[in-house]
Amino acid sequence: MSTTAELRTISHWVAGKLVEGEGDRYGDVYDPARGQVAARVAFATPRDVDRAVAAAKEAFPAWSRTSLAKRTEIMFAFRELLKRHGDEVSNLIASEHGKPPSDAAGEIARGLEVVELACSLSVMLKGEFSEQVSRNVDVYSVRQPLGVCAGITPFNFPAMVPLWMFPIALACGNTFVLKPSERDPSASLVLARLLKEAGLPDGVFNVVHGDKVAVDALLDHPDVAAISFVGSTPIAKYIYGRGASNGKRVQALGGAKNHLVAMPDADLGAVADALTSSAYGSTGQRCMAISAAVVVGDIADRLVPALKERMAKLRVGPATDPKAELGPLVSKEAKARVESLIERGVQEGATLVVDGRGIRIPGHEEGFFVGPTLFDRVTPDMEIYKQEIFGPVLVMLRVETLDEALALIERNPYGNGCSIFTNDGAAARHFERHASAGMVGINVPIPVPVGSYSFGGWKSSLFGDQHIYGPEGFRFYTRAKVVTTRWHEVETVGVNLRFPGGHT
Ligand code: NAD
Repeated sequence: MSTTAELRTISHWVAGKLVEGEGDRYGDVYDPARGQVAARVAFATPRDVDRAVAAAKEAFPAWSRTSLAKRTEIMFAFRELLKRHGDEVSNLIASEHGKPPSDAAGEIARGLEVVELACSLSVMLKGEFSEQVSRNVDVYSVRQPLGVCAGITPFNFPAMVPLWMFPIALACGNTFVLKPSERDPSASLVLARLLKEAGLPDGVFNVVHGDKVAVDALLDHPDVAAISFVGSTPIAKYIYGRGASNGKRVQALGGAKNHLVAMPDADLGAVADALTSSAYGSTGQRCMAISAAVVVGDIADRLVPALKERMAKLRVGPATDPKAELGPLVSKEAKARVESLIERGVQEGATLVVDGRGIRIPGHEEGFFVGPTLFDRVTPDMEIYKQEIFGPVLVMLRVETLDEALALIERNPYGNGCSIFTNDGAAARHFERHASAGMVGINVPIPVPVGSYSFGGWKSSLFGDQHIYGPEGFRFYTRAKVVTTRWHEVETVGVNLRFPGGHT
């Protein structure tokens, strides 16, 4: 934590403008490629959080009454602005997270899918109607916004994960307070500015920066109705427990250990390409990265050289190098942790095929770099298999049958995603039906659903019952109301000019 005043300070965004907050605690924001502090981010106090929630609460009545047509117009405008300012956002992400700008552009593209779904809010918010369920009785359902919703997001997708949440929350008529990761907080402020430019009224979207203090203030705030969280499993569990015990609706997405099962009949080149891209993309810091290759039968001995060949060609470097494919890890602690887990794997007896430790990038000697790493002959009892490493480390386990591979997935405490590579339809179907994970890929290594489906894992990868974005996102950010009506039909007797009499 820094207390230096010379550094650029990243502030909160409340009621449509940047605000400094009253706190005196700041977090260091690094340039991870150089290993140097580049800025400092203000840490919100509970009173700062209270101001942001108050702004959101004040904005809620008018925003929730705003017509669907107007909300749609603002969402469309935001989509256009985000597309136009994509480079600005990707460069900011690259500078604070370390991933190449092309990779950051990919996360914005995936986030835009959710904005586009939010643009179809008038379809997504349609209710149901049943006529004449009883004599003169009709029943219909509507979905109404919750109030102030909060989002707490991780460092690895500083634009995409917030975009999984707030476009749908706002489309449903809620107001929002975002607490982004303190490691790469700047992208959230560009999103806030673009929402304002798109015509979103002040106070509807707010950003508070900070750590546990800010998060706890949101979890305990009586005016926060719902919490969406994405991050590591221990924190997800904590958020779910504390938020739910305070009576809030909570969805808390956690960590992952995603398996790719390579069947003996699979195309070896396709498997090697898929493993290399999904294990090492974003330096392994993706919740849907494949980190465990489960190789069935006899292809392991051929797969290892195919992987080594591809890994040797990967270019590690800073985001400023246009040819770099893997950036640094996000922090010094992350680098130390990944390196110590690699050492642990060696001690536990796994075969270290490619060691990414000690990589030197000229001009960036202090950067948090770890190169692509591959372990073979890993067993389920080893820490490198049990833990989410969240770095460029792929572990390979050898099994005899598909059912053995499925049993491994079943026993793993995480259940975000998993994939199978095969040309055998029956094997693919068996896998899809029995794999215990929320998202399954068949010849697809990173099966992140498109925006019109919902994203979420099973087991310790998700606490709560609604997945994020897609149709479940609309359900999460609204509550249902069912209305039962009785209107007697007016009996029309026709025009009759006769003088009304007793027998007419
Ligand atoms: P993290 O859990 O450390 O932090 C996530 C958020 O929680 C941050 O905003 C942080 O400020 C806050 N936080 C951290 N410690 C806290 C505490 N003790 N009390 C209250 N709040 C706290 O996660 P991270 O390191 O930023 O992100 C990486 C993790 O996120 C990985 O485990 C990854 O798998 C996971 N992730 C999961 C998904 C998914 O969809 N399931 C997506 C992206 C990332």
